[in-house]
Amino acid sequence: MDMTSSQTNAARQHPHIPLDELRAQVAACRQCPLCEGRTQTVFGVGNPEARVLIVGEAPGKNEDLQGEPFVGAAGKYLNELLAIAGLARDEVFIANVLKCRPPSNRDPRPEEIQACTPFLREQTRTIDPEFIVTLGNFATKFILKTDVGITRLHGTLQRAGRFKVFPIFHPAAALYDGKKREALENDFATLGELLSAPDGRAATASSSS
Ligand code: SF4
Repeated sequence: MDMTSSQTNAARQHPHIPLDELRAQVAACRQCPLCEGRTQTVFGVGNPEARVLIVGEAPGKNEDLQGEPFVGAAGKYLNELLAIAGLARDEVFIANVLKCRPPSNRDPRPEEIQACTPFLREQTRTIDPEFIVTLGNFATKFILKTDVGITRLHGTLQRAGRFKVFPIFHPAAALYDGKKREALENDFATLGELLSAPDGRAATASSSS
């Protein structure tokens, strides 16, 4: 979220919408065609006052069936990665850019991202995390308003307004790719260092704004 300082102030003053109210708005949403194919919306799950907000891409088949992000193999792997950073799943909040499953798990379309991301913006304002961990290209490009890909940005500390942003590869992309797996695990270790550093910065992570 590319916020200027005046926007940041506005965001701080913005009356936060309670998560339950946002969840109900998402459940009723029919603002893009993805509503036609969903079993249910996938709002997000976790600590409503989390220090770390994890943002993935979109629900897959299992998520659509269960109504929760990151279940199945990718979810199990995410739990292992969070543990590397010293985090438990119920300590963080996990959400996606899109709240409904794209058919056959295809990539999100720009118009779907445009229609759905006001919900993610409001979730972020309400949770007010210190860190946003973006998983994969779609979450990273949306939060940082950048065209730079995840291959270049992963493992580097970035900023979006008052939020520290830490891009990491999507766990699903690394499940069967040993090189990405190693990078993911290193990045979650760096995230753990950032979280325990007094000022939230680790020597191993580079920073840009
Ligand atoms: S993907 Fe988002 S914008 Fe589209 S119908 Fe679902 S909740 Fe609404």
